[in-house]
Amino acid sequence: MTTEITGVCPECDAQVRLGADAEVGEIVTCTECGADLEVRSISPPRLEVAPPEEEDWGE
Ligand SMILES: [Zn+2]
Repeated sequence: MTTEITGVCPECDAQVRLGADAEVGEIVTCTECGADLEVRSISPPRLEVAPPEEEDWGE
């Protein structure tokens, strides 16, 4: 039996499949709008727009 976790894209309200082995902190891509979303919570599933990846911004 496969447990399917589905979150909602904060950008376009689309249902985004996280997969059964999703982890907090994982980045998923919304299939509707292409936004990069960070998994903030598994239960209940919560997605947030991931900040763009930058390298060494603290320097
Ligand atoms: Zn979206």
